[in-house]
Amino acid sequence: MFKIPFKRVNWITSIFLITTALLSVTAVPIYLWHFGIDWFQFGMFFFFATATTMSITLGYHRLYSHLSFKAKWPVKLFTLLFGACAFENSCFDWTSDHRKHHKHVDHEDDPYDISKGFMWAHIGWLIFKVRPEEPVDNVNDLHRDKLCMWQHKYVHLIGFVLGAVVPTLLGYLWSGAQGALGGFLLSGILRIVVVQHCTFFINSLCHTIGKRPYNTDNTARDSAIMAVFTCGEGYHNYHHAFQHDYRNGVKPWQFDPTKWMIWTLSKLGLTTNLRRVSDEKILLAEMREAKRQAARRLAILGTPEESHPLTEKAAAMLHNFSQRLTDSYNELEQAVSGKVQVSRKAMAQWQKETRELVRHIANMKGKAKSSA
Ligand SMILES: [Zn+2]
Ligand SMILES: [Zn+2]
Repeated sequence: MFKIPFKRVNWITSIFLITTALLSVTAVPIYLWHFGIDWFQFGMFFFFATATTMSITLGYHRLYSHLSFKAKWPVKLFTLLFGACAFENSCFDWTSDHRKHHKHVDHEDDPYDISKGFMWAHIGWLIFKVRPEEPVDNVNDLHRDKLCMWQHKYVHLIGFVLGAVVPTLLGYLWSGAQGALGGFLLSGILRIVVVQHCTFFINSLCHTIGKRPYNTDNTARDSAIMAVFTCGEGYHNYHHAFQHDYRNGVKPWQFDPTKWMIWTLSKLGLTTNLRRVSDEKILLAEMREAKRQAARRLAILGTPEESHPLTEKAAAMLHNFSQRLTDSYNELEQAVSGKVQVSRKAMAQWQKETRELVRHIANMKGKAKSSA
């Protein structure tokens, strides 16, 4: 029978997660039923939810964990203050866990290893703290960041004051005791639960559902839907392929408000040294992945059970597409290693060839499923 290893339970974290979740599904609906929501409460919720999420994505994640750009102190201070309000630990601890995640993704030393199950990656790793505590040796650079170390010391106090007391006080100033309760429940409790689970979904859902156009060596996936709820962090396959790029949604049409904010702040002189992977290297990764997927597909089609005149025709087409892409891949690889400028026309042509091959593989998978 399944037994909960109570000896390993991190009680403080667990009680916090369970209490805030319970209040969100009981006290919050009761409050809304009785008092409804006015524009002030809605605006305050939206502000706190966005400021907290963006502080995790822009500050904790892309700035501190990946050093994908440099930021002036006001940006650091804002993200450290509102990052504390997410109650996802200090930036120092968060960064250490996250760097381990990238280094050991899908393996034992990955704190939110998806191979241990969806719920483990989502929340289980927080409830059952790992014993013995692992030494924090991958964040030496942060010891020199005075603001970051100050936040590490006072993170719970900052989170409590700014994330719970301030919205309660603002609610009170707006409409008395009822407003105070609304501020506490909506911009405090509910906002914490929503922001936390959106972050947790990156570790669980974005390692389970979605496409892998850049690399299938790990479980990270691109999800446009999750990007909406996480200020652009849903493009997780790209992020694991190129973790030092300040962009996660790298295509112009992809929804990545964190990227837009970092870029806007750079125009205001508040962020500098924005790190970008070149278009050529990104396309090279996409081509390599398309070629690998084609090779896997051809290997399946080559088995006697799959032998059929129609599949043979599809396989021949796939082989042609793949061969053409291999030639283009070699050409682009040579250009990249020799640092030769590639024309826009050639890039567009290779992008088209890659898309065609990926589409062809998807169609073949679709047909295989419908005929099964
Ligand atoms: Zn990940
Ligand atoms: Zn990351």
